[in-house]
Amino acid sequence: MGDRERNKKRLLELLQAEGTGNAHCADCGAADPDWASYKLGIFICLNCSGIHRNFPDISKVKSVRLDFWDDSIVEVAVVLQFMTHNGNLRVKAKYEARVPAFYYIPQASDCPVLKEQWIRAKYERQEFMADGKTMSPSDNREGFLWKRGRDNAQFLRRRFVLSAGEGLLKYYTKEEGKDPKAVINIKDLNATFQAEKIGNPHGLQITYRREGHIRNLFVYHESGKEIVDWFNALRAARLRYLKMAFPELPESELVPLITRNYLKQGFMEKTGPKQREPFKKRWFALDPQERSLLYYKNPLDAFELGQVFLGSREQGYEVYEDLPKGVRGNRWKAGLTIVTPERKFLFTCPSEKEQGEWLESLRDVLSRPLTALNLLTASAESGHSRR
Ligand SMILES: [Zn+2]
Repeated sequence: MGDRERNKKRLLELLQAEGTGNAHCADCGAADPDWASYKLGIFICLNCSGIHRNFPDISKVKSVRLDFWDDSIVEVAVVLQFMTHNGNLRVKAKYEARVPAFYYIPQASDCPVLKEQWIRAKYERQEFMADGKTMSPSDNREGFLWKRGRDNAQFLRRRFVLSAGEGLLKYYTKEEGKDPKAVINIKDLNATFQAEKIGNPHGLQITYRREGHIRNLFVYHESGKEIVDWFNALRAARLRYLKMAFPELPESELVPLITRNYLKQGFMEKTGPKQREPFKKRWFALDPQERSLLYYKNPLDAFELGQVFLGSREQGYEVYEDLPKGVRGNRWKAGLTIVTPERKFLFTCPSEKEQGEWLESLRDVLSRPLTALNLLTASAESGHSRR
């Protein structure tokens, strides 16, 4: 066996070595990473290696399997010793020594801007080291974001002001304007990256409650750092609110409540309560925490057309993989029926693959026990009038 093969074998062994954390990407947790940053001493996935390439002063990457590991590029013996001594868990302890509870740590499925900023914050700006530099976002923030117009697709520059002390996010249409266009309570606010839907790699969706409905705002900033800092500032403000609202709950139970990611989104066709109305194409978004299936005429509408609350199986909610006998869809054949105590909701999906994904996601929500928070929200909502 030549040196190159021997070195590769040693690296592959390191990937599987117990107690090192090397079996998962050091940055996004993806399984079976096969790239190494030999300057940091970690194993990462292909995606994250692409981000590491952007700051070669701090990180240098090579593929474990595809690249040559010999003395032509680096002092391999030293590198192997370094990789052995470090590894994902040790390096994590150093660079993630004090990640704030509100900071969103992305997973493999999250959008590129979140991963890139997490990796830069960790290694390039070294924000989370024990003796690190000062932390970036506080939960007060002010600045400009591009906001999509409510009734047209045009993005306009708007000033946003986040005041965590007041528990409010405001935005202004005029730079010197006195009155904010909207005053949003942090209590009702949710922010999620929706790059694909918005059509911008930094696209952020901010939702809040207004008169019993869910209002959507779509914003972005040219700078990836700015938009991720906004996102984490909103998260910090949300955590602060949750701690006040639920002082008896430990932080670890509040952190998952900060951001509500949709379990699934996409187009389906839907008929009305009589089941004889024509099926109409709608955009659906499933919010598992609120147990709500929201539907819209278009993905970027300001308000939803309606919501289907999804209780638990014990309360009589169920989902089936077809339409009731005698009911036919319009263009799409793959049917779906949601049964609630009040009525049936009938849908058709664009493909069997979509149908399968919707079934799985809806069943997931129905099988979750109702939380105390669900009950609180449900009772608060019943007091609202519907538009
Ligand atoms: Zn990764």
